[in-house]
Amino acid sequence: MSHVLAAVAWPYANGPRHIGHVSGFGVPSDVFSRYMRMAGHDVLMVSGTDEHGTPIQVQADADGVTPRELADRYNRVIVEDLHGLGLSYDLFTRTTTRNHYAVVQELFEGLYRNGYIVAKTTLGAKSPSTGRTLPDRYIEGTCPICGYDSARGDQCDNCGNQLDPEQLINPRSKINGETPEFVETEHFFLDLPAFAGALATWLDTREGWRPNVLKFSRNLLDDLQPRAITRDLEWGVPIPLDGWRDRADKRIYVWFDAVIGYLSASIEWARRSGDPDAWKKWWSADGQGKDALGYYFMGKDNIVFHSVIWPGLLLGYSGAGDSGGEPGDLGALNLPTEVVSSEYLTMEGRKFSSSRKVVIYVRDFLERYDADALRYFIAAAGPESNDTDFTWAEFVRRNNDELVAGWGNLVNRSISMAAKNFGAIPPAGELTAEDEALLAVAREGFTTVGELIGKHRQKAAIGEAMRIVGEANKYLSDQAPWKLKDEASKPRMGTILHVALQVVSDANTLLSPFLPHSAQKVHELLGGTGVHSPMPSIVEVDDLDGGPSYPVLTGDYTVGVSWRSVPLVAGTALAAPKPVFRKLDPSVVDEELARLAG
Ligand SMILES: [Zn+2]
Repeated sequence: MSHVLAAVAWPYANGPRHIGHVSGFGVPSDVFSRYMRMAGHDVLMVSGTDEHGTPIQVQADADGVTPRELADRYNRVIVEDLHGLGLSYDLFTRTTTRNHYAVVQELFEGLYRNGYIVAKTTLGAKSPSTGRTLPDRYIEGTCPICGYDSARGDQCDNCGNQLDPEQLINPRSKINGETPEFVETEHFFLDLPAFAGALATWLDTREGWRPNVLKFSRNLLDDLQPRAITRDLEWGVPIPLDGWRDRADKRIYVWFDAVIGYLSASIEWARRSGDPDAWKKWWSADGQGKDALGYYFMGKDNIVFHSVIWPGLLLGYSGAGDSGGEPGDLGALNLPTEVVSSEYLTMEGRKFSSSRKVVIYVRDFLERYDADALRYFIAAAGPESNDTDFTWAEFVRRNNDELVAGWGNLVNRSISMAAKNFGAIPPAGELTAEDEALLAVAREGFTTVGELIGKHRQKAAIGEAMRIVGEANKYLSDQAPWKLKDEASKPRMGTILHVALQVVSDANTLLSPFLPHSAQKVHELLGGTGVHSPMPSIVEVDDLDGGPSYPVLTGDYTVGVSWRSVPLVAGTALAAPKPVFRKLDPSVVDEELARLAG
């Protein structure tokens, strides 16, 4: 039994999330966490909405609301979407809690004390007519990298590169069009080069990472530069140093505060659990958490933050960067065990784009289709290790041919036949070699499928589970129990159905990390009671330190089934059979394509 941290990327709260987002971080982390819990590990799965930074401020300005109001709106939307998908977060919180602010400031101070944060004078923009500081987002100009003529002072939305305002060609104020004046201003930088040695040593000890992630991360070490961690902006975590704390125009940069969310959410979870130190079992490098494992789930555009910058922060705070230091009040902290990065999902051959309407939001998807249908597609055909295209035709085909005609059909026909002929799970008589062989295939699945999920090879894992389903369907066709209705053959019919139902039960457990909603239904059809696959709930909580209340996702996940074959008990009454999955009419493909085009 290990303590396993599942650290899941923080969705940015400037709009609803689409299925590309949840295919990268959401479903894979949930499958992994569910499996690890079933296998007996103590899992802490945390995340939340990332709510600071310029894009939220800009959008709030455009909508005429405060950044907090905008973040409130999309935090709730995202919480509801992740709930709809059944993602089993121990805590899904947000970055605007007072707890998060305090943890971010603690890390900043610890890094500062150890000398890993350096002040630098850079150029900042001022309005010549008013004399006031012009935040980066209010400066526009031509991108020096791609030539786009409406790049912002912090980022070019066309090429995606981070910029500094003074790099813009022909800079102008978005407020009144005047040319800003650049004056010297002080900012803080994380001294990334001071972690190059410690990071290289650490990366050399990593095993089992996807090779592209490791190679990419090692290459980044060759050209580490100090990276700005403060910004001219009013929306964010204040800088916790004397002379800076009360400045309204300077804030900690959003990326710095967001990566610390994994730690602050763990601390918030512990404080809410009644044992405020419980987070240390997953985090303390020198105490009770020294054998804990930490897995970080994200899309590939975020690798740098998780394999280089976040480990650098943790090393610096722990006093373990290249120039040493002392751990802060939280103690020395664990670095990631593994950075699990997925590739990109595209939609009908194009990049997802909300502005160009190449998109299907999670919410809209769940209004029209079942959560497990999407979870199945993501696990079986998602962007695990290659960029992958979502097409409606392939979604409908996999739903109908694999979920409905494969797994659903096995559940339906075996339970219907047993219910009709026996009313309950029939007893098994003497087993034939074929019976034994099928039961063995299902039992071996607990080893093979489990190992594959543990190695983040979920596509192969669900493929193996579905292969077992296929074997069981073939067994039923070969054995043809429906032909054994006369009195003399009925005991054999009962044996075949007992074997088939046992394999349905085993396959249902193997599939439950992927398909938790339908696993609960199949469990009940088999006459089972209680929770098979635990689900998260949305709970309105008070901020622990006096801020406004907010919704979190949380749950009790200790109550589900374990990762093993549970022998069925003959005589257990079977529920009235009903289909577990919905067959989709092929016409939905054209309807969805028309929505995309319109
Ligand atoms: Zn550009």
